[in-house]
Amino acid sequence: MVDFKLTPEQLAIQRSVREFAEKEIKAIAMERDQMTDHENIFPVEAFKKSFGIGIHDATIPKKYGGQGLDCLTHVLIWEEMAAADAGFCVSYQGHFLALEHACGPRATEEQRETFLRALTTEEGGLAAYALTEPNVGPCWLLLQQDFIQETTIERDGDDYVLNGVKNFCTNGGSPITKWYVIWARGDKDKVGLESCRTCFVWADSPGFTVPKSENKMGQRLSKNAQLYLDNVRVPKEHIIGEPGGMGMDGDFGQRLITANSWILLGALCLGLARSAYEEALAYAKRRIIAGKPAIQHQLIGAKLADMYWNIEAVRAYVWKAANYFDTNPVPDMKLAQGAKVMGSDLAVKVTDEALQIHGGYGYTKDALVEKLYRDAKVTQIYECPNELLRVTTAGMLELGM
Ligand SMILES: Cc1cc2nc3c(=O)[nH]c(=O)nc-3n(C[C@H](O)[C@H](O)[C@H](O)COP(=O)(O)OP(=O)(O)OC[C@H]3O[C@@H](n4cnc5c(N)ncnc54)[C@H](O)[C@@H]3O)c2cc1C
Repeated sequence: MVDFKLTPEQLAIQRSVREFAEKEIKAIAMERDQMTDHENIFPVEAFKKSFGIGIHDATIPKKYGGQGLDCLTHVLIWEEMAAADAGFCVSYQGHFLALEHACGPRATEEQRETFLRALTTEEGGLAAYALTEPNVGPCWLLLQQDFIQETTIERDGDDYVLNGVKNFCTNGGSPITKWYVIWARGDKDKVGLESCRTCFVWADSPGFTVPKSENKMGQRLSKNAQLYLDNVRVPKEHIIGEPGGMGMDGDFGQRLITANSWILLGALCLGLARSAYEEALAYAKRRIIAGKPAIQHQLIGAKLADMYWNIEAVRAYVWKAANYFDTNPVPDMKLAQGAKVMGSDLAVKVTDEALQIHGGYGYTKDALVEKLYRDAKVTQIYECPNELLRVTTAGMLELGM
């Protein structure tokens, strides 16, 4: 790993995803991004084509019909997808956050057969993950404190009944989303993580509705929606983990899922930053300012050099975090958090500089960098705001973890 040499299989996957992404995603991204009818931006056909090349089941074990790929190979796939469009790629973030619950240590064999197989059928499909609520934001890290989920899950005979509202759910209400992982408070005597249950909910469950999507600033090719759960019944077989709260096993399972997700977000940010850098480099070579190409003006050239170095540095870091994840049974949460924080700060910085290099043209809707600039901002917010991740890593450093 230290020589950063990819295997022939990894190189082949990287190449084929790059070709797919340029042809099927990048080609439609600018036009879709600018659609005013935001409810219909979500590119259903492009997702269906991506099922055909196995992007959606990359990490599902072969035993359940998936590709069984490791985290590092998945990182390569994500950089290529995000270089074409970060919104398309982040739809897969919601998807994998959910399906890793079925792959993870808390799921039963029956749940894996049911929910993983539902995605590896010929028509494929997406999953979604709903934790955030109108009054409970950032992420499960806060649930390790005294935070309380307002969505409730209560036992009723052999079933459980869900009531509540979820916010910003990626893939929420898309026509190809088959099932959701929903977080809810199952024990009124407890708070935080100990009070939580997670369960699988089919998209067509009675009482489950998705009234409208959010009209977002960037990453517009992904669909984000509020979910309404009005007496939604799920059989007890859909509950993830043992009754009585998530417990230590649940906590460990959640660590695996979240560490994986932060590393992948690092890869998404790399793809976004790379796309902005390549666009800025090409522009700076052809744009003549004061009689010479823009890149030959030292301050512009220096910006491009910094972009190049910083992308290379973050890629090396993300690959290291992925390699650690693949080769150790217990994830290093600090490494994983760094992938998300450094990746998102990189994406914001590089897209900002890329727009600056484009001058006034970069500030128009004709310029790709204008879209990339909008796409980048949310990476510092979702999947745990960077502030919270910095505070959490600092806490682990203090404790010598
Ligand atoms: C495009 C998009 C996709 C999303 N997809 C999903 C999804 O699929 N599933 C899901 O469950 N959720 C999803 N979310 C929700 C997302 O995870 C939350 O929006 C995010 O975690 C922030 O929570 P909040 O919006 O409630 O902000 P708040 O909790 O109100 O936080 C506001 C700001 O306060 C700061 N802050 C927060 N906590 C701290 C702290 N402890 N210390 C210092 N500063 C802090 C941060 O700057 C933060 O951005 C998505 C959000 C977006 C925008």
